[in-house]
Amino acid sequence: MKIIDAHAHLMDEPGYLDGLLTAMDAAGIEKVCVSGLGPLFGMQDNTAVEAARRQHPDRIIGAVYVRPGMDGAETVDWGAEHGFRMLKVTAPTGPYSDPSFDPIWERALEHGMPVLFHTGLVMPSAEGRGCRVSSLNMQPMQVEPITREFPELKVILAHLGVNHNMDAAEMARIRANVYVDISGEPGGWRERMKATGLDHWLWWPGASEKLLFGTDVHYTRIKQILDEDRAIYDALGLDEPTRANVLGGTMRGLLGEPL
Ligand SMILES: [Zn+2]
Repeated sequence: MKIIDAHAHLMDEPGYLDGLLTAMDAAGIEKVCVSGLGPLFGMQDNTAVEAARRQHPDRIIGAVYVRPGMDGAETVDWGAEHGFRMLKVTAPTGPYSDPSFDPIWERALEHGMPVLFHTGLVMPSAEGRGCRVSSLNMQPMQVEPITREFPELKVILAHLGVNHNMDAAEMARIRANVYVDISGEPGGWRERMKATGLDHWLWWPGASEKLLFGTDVHYTRIKQILDEDRAIYDALGLDEPTRANVLGGTMRGLLGEPL
């Protein structure tokens, strides 16, 4: 089974890339979708991700970071020209649904790049005055008008909406091209999910077709998240083919790779 971690980052920490690759080997993860959200999140940037991707093209799938309102469609084009295959967006200067951001989604669609949206409560590492990041702008329902305007756009709602699990899940249920990941650090929103059971939100037959494996944790905790998620798949009663899709097949499809 070829596992893809659909949601990871390049932290601004010496040796992080090597640590990430070693952790992937230990966990049996073949590929990882990586983005760098810059100093606001204690991370490296798009340039560093591009270098990592060039160094390890067989392991790293680049997700170009676009901060709507600060970055525009030109960053999407730059990413496509530099081998990035998807987008990661967070911390917009206004609601995701703001029509002024439409050129970003338009260019992503034209380049065939899925868009990974941070949704729900966000925790920048550089907070304080001037930060101006609002989780309100990133509620899952802020993505809903985008899915109507660009129905072919491949959308991933990260963290199942964090504090908006039902909204993210129902979006995945009613919109053809909306997917979710259940990534997040231990001790965060996942604790509620583990206590309640993921089927509380992903309740409909075939819901797992909309679920992607992603971690979004420091590489030292990747194996822990994978083990936890396997227990969640057990609880959901997923059969082997479905499990293989959640762990990588579905993401490969979104990226336009053969299954
Ligand atoms: Zn993330």
